[in-house]
Amino acid sequence: MDRSFVPATESVSKLIQELNKLPGIGPKSAQRLAYHILRTPEEQTRELADAILSVKQKTKLCSICFNVTESDTCRICDNDQRDRTKICIVEQPQDILALEHTRAYQGLYHVLHGAISPTEGVGTDDIKVKELINRLQDGSVTEVILATNTNLEGEQTALYLSQTISPLGIKVTRLARGLPFGTELEYADDVTLTRALEGRQEL
Ligand SMILES: [Zn+2]
Repeated sequence: MDRSFVPATESVSKLIQELNKLPGIGPKSAQRLAYHILRTPEEQTRELADAILSVKQKTKLCSICFNVTESDTCRICDNDQRDRTKICIVEQPQDILALEHTRAYQGLYHVLHGAISPTEGVGTDDIKVKELINRLQDGSVTEVILATNTNLEGEQTALYLSQTISPLGIKVTRLARGLPFGTELEYADDVTLTRALEGRQEL
């Protein structure tokens, strides 16, 4: 056993365990963070704990696009200035952040909350596909931009959506140019994302 990982007390051990569950936080980082928190003034620690709790208590999903929001609908869906003829489909809410950061897109979004993955048992019913198709029924949307990740699951999802949406008479485009295979949208840089948006191709 790694002796440096033997925690001092039960509560420190518990904190290390919990931090270790976070993505990208290994045992060493969890330990470093736990001891950092231990040294932090109580007031500051309370703010961190409150922030974690309130994100769970106050945040829900937009009833239209399934982005995160603190009210029934999100700021993007509520914004009259957005182009309501376009919907950009993403896998996760953080992908919206990445696309918004480019300021290259003015339309609406739809968050699938996942991607089709037969190997992991994720089918079309497990992501927000039905809700998307419902949104497209009133004829106001003329273009759907598929911005799923460029990995296998993202490509499969894009293909499925394109086959499902095209028959509705809606133009379907795919972010492609400039995004190398395997790219997760949230980690793409602004320039690459903007180019990918501008260079989107009809499917
Ligand atoms: Zn929304």
